[in-house]
Amino acid sequence: MTETVEPKGRVLISEVGPRDGLQNAHGIMPTEAKQRWITALAEAGLQEIEVGSFVRPDRVPQLADTAEVVAHALTIPGLTVAVLAPNAKGAERAIAAGAHKITVPVSASRAHALANVGMTVEQSVEALRSVCALRDAAPEGKRPSVEGGLSTAFGCTLQGEVPEDDVVRLAAMMVEAGADEVGLSDTTGMANPAQVKRLVRRVRAAIGHRLSGVHLHDTRGLALANAFAAWEEGIGTFDGSLAGLGGCPFAPGASGNAVTEDLVSMFHDLGVETGIDLDRLIAARAILAEALPGEVLHGAAARWRAGRQAA
Ligand code: ZN
Repeated sequence: MTETVEPKGRVLISEVGPRDGLQNAHGIMPTEAKQRWITALAEAGLQEIEVGSFVRPDRVPQLADTAEVVAHALTIPGLTVAVLAPNAKGAERAIAAGAHKITVPVSASRAHALANVGMTVEQSVEALRSVCALRDAAPEGKRPSVEGGLSTAFGCTLQGEVPEDDVVRLAAMMVEAGADEVGLSDTTGMANPAQVKRLVRRVRAAIGHRLSGVHLHDTRGLALANAFAAWEEGIGTFDGSLAGLGGCPFAPGASGNAVTEDLVSMFHDLGVETGIDLDRLIAARAILAEALPGEVLHGAAARWRAGRQAA
């Protein structure tokens, strides 16, 4: 059973479900339900939520209402409202909408970059640079922070192995292009804890504290082990998706994104503060169940609680 442990610092759990989750969901969640969900997540104590993305609406119809969702999220006091934008065009819309933070994906795998955003790795870095220029030109108070999301950092299903040297070099290029921070993404769920430790150390040696977070996938059941490994190396920000929604799972029945509730549960057990109320977080799953009928909801923490209540 859970024992009282000495506090061991704090981590930031960044929810990406409304973007990464819904982008890969089968149905389209109504705007009203998204807004209710984001409110529930913030009330559970989440301090940063990626609420959508500014991409071509015909490409990702699930997120066509992002500007409206951002407007709602901005009314929630204290919440950092993050969005994804792959290029300057998207970033212009993000800044006009008032987003606090823009994540620009840059893939370490040539094949994935072309498939995902239709750009070469070098073109993606130039897109990041142009987003940073827009940030710098924005009036003070409306200037978002820019994160470079380094995807397929731990391997790529299209390309296979992604050399660590490529990841380290790309991280340095992203900082040089103006990124405020860089996050490492295990887009394909191929990472293992030893690799996470090694790569975090190497990237940190190259760009220092600008390496801020990790985005992990649970495709092969290693998201929590990898999160723990990253935390031991001093990483302080962890992306999660409520109920593990989305994240392009490649194996039938496997979850995609790291499950937010499970990350929170693990860190609380470790004595690490998150500022999140786990019961309220788990309760927010009901909104997903209702608004996305038929979608599989993953998560060991929720299952464990339900089992205890039934016993
Ligand atoms: Zn993901």
